[in-house]
Amino acid sequence: MKSLILSLFSIGVLVAAEPAKPATAPRPGRALEAPGVRADFVILQDRKATVTFVDEAGNPAARGDRTVAVKVDGKDVALEAQPNGFVTKEPLPAKEPAPIVVQIRAKADAKPANFRITLNTAICAECKRPEYGCICGH
Ligand SMILES: [Zn+2]
Repeated sequence: MKSLILSLFSIGVLVAAEPAKPATAPRPGRALEAPGVRADFVILQDRKATVTFVDEAGNPAARGDRTVAVKVDGKDVALEAQPNGFVTKEPLPAKEPAPIVVQIRAKADAKPANFRITLNTAICAECKRPEYGCICGH
């Protein structure tokens, strides 16, 4: 009996020694969140921008009926539908910083959720994320 208690105790110590994992891993890019909207805005290596819908756990979710419109510097950007969101047909303009507006609708005639992002792909010295997805709040 004593040895059983001891081994249970050592299992407990092993479990406690496991580093605590965050509930959800940090998502890439800029998180777009509003009531009924959960998506990630990411600028890829080739400067094409993606909007990927994610579920509560941060995993890609089906696009469904949702629509997205993106404006850079006041100009509409052409988008291509993907299973989990949209990708721009062309790389984003080179000019930085530039204002980006991402508009997401649950379906074509729904009220949009608007997100304002600054096109700035420089890496933040503090959080090491691109500035458009900076999480330091400066
Ligand atoms: Zn930062």
